[in-house]
Amino acid sequence: MITIVNLNSKCALDININRAQIVKRLDFLARKAKLVPLYLIDTELMDEIYPPQKKRILDEEIARRILEEYMSDREFDRDKKFPWEELWRPIEIIEVMVAVGVYVHNPKKPDIFIQHGIDKNIVDQITYPCIFITPERVIKWAERIKISSEVLFQKVYYHELGHAYIHSPKRKYGLNYYRVIEESYCNAVAVSRFTSDEEVAQVVKAIQSQSAEYRGYPFFYLPHNSNINFNVFFYDKYEWRYFIHKYFDLLESYMSALKREKFYKIYHTLINQFPHYLFFANLKSDILTFPHIWTSDLDDEYFENIAKFILTSVVN
Ligand SMILES: [Zn+2]
Repeated sequence: MITIVNLNSKCALDININRAQIVKRLDFLARKAKLVPLYLIDTELMDEIYPPQKKRILDEEIARRILEEYMSDREFDRDKKFPWEELWRPIEIIEVMVAVGVYVHNPKKPDIFIQHGIDKNIVDQITYPCIFITPERVIKWAERIKISSEVLFQKVYYHELGHAYIHSPKRKYGLNYYRVIEESYCNAVAVSRFTSDEEVAQVVKAIQSQSAEYRGYPFFYLPHNSNINFNVFFYDKYEWRYFIHKYFDLLESYMSALKREKFYKIYHTLINQFPHYLFFANLKSDILTFPHIWTSDLDDEYFENIAKFILTSVVN
């Protein structure tokens, strides 16, 4: 059973998260979902809980310009630091699709909740880690982009469960480039839960309305109706490290080759021309389910390359 408690949301969004369909969709997230309760809160409380460092979004125009410079510069010095810090801008007003849901690992002060009108007895029962969602914002966002608020609520919930799923002390969310990877990953987790074309289209529409760091989901996501035969390639799941390193080595050489091509449609080129397509497809689906292979001890350089790759495919 998933624990869902309405703390102070006055919203009429009627969602029964324990519905069989939703539980069935959790799949590899089911165990985590049982351990991580979901609390519904109002907008004011969300704005207080939401971490200030997350109140920045990637500026697409700046990202495009910097990546273009980077990709077209033949002489680009490999050792020169990529200016990740310059890619972000603060959000002035709380944009509706930003502080909608949040995964919180470390306990918050009970006072915050009490100040927002929640009974102390209820506050005492809040356990961590947990997920907070503001249904008011789910509805506003759904109305704005004209999709079902129930589908969007699920999308937000699965996305936050994605954060819970890959949480580890080694997590590098504070690093600018890692954020691009994690948000894109969590959206891949979300969209991959849905199986009907109509619902997938709605979730994709929601993702397209988010800022660039959230939109790299195709990097981790293999569509449910993909006809790729997963059994063609045999490999041992315990040989992760070998495969992941091999994959990223290939990716790296591919990226440096593309620098000569001046800002090509990198993602599609890779998909179409990658000689290890089946391997890539397998890896994609497995990266989603076993993220420890890339959240554990890969070098920062690998992460940076993944982030550059994801971002290039997004802003192109
Ligand atoms: Zn997120």
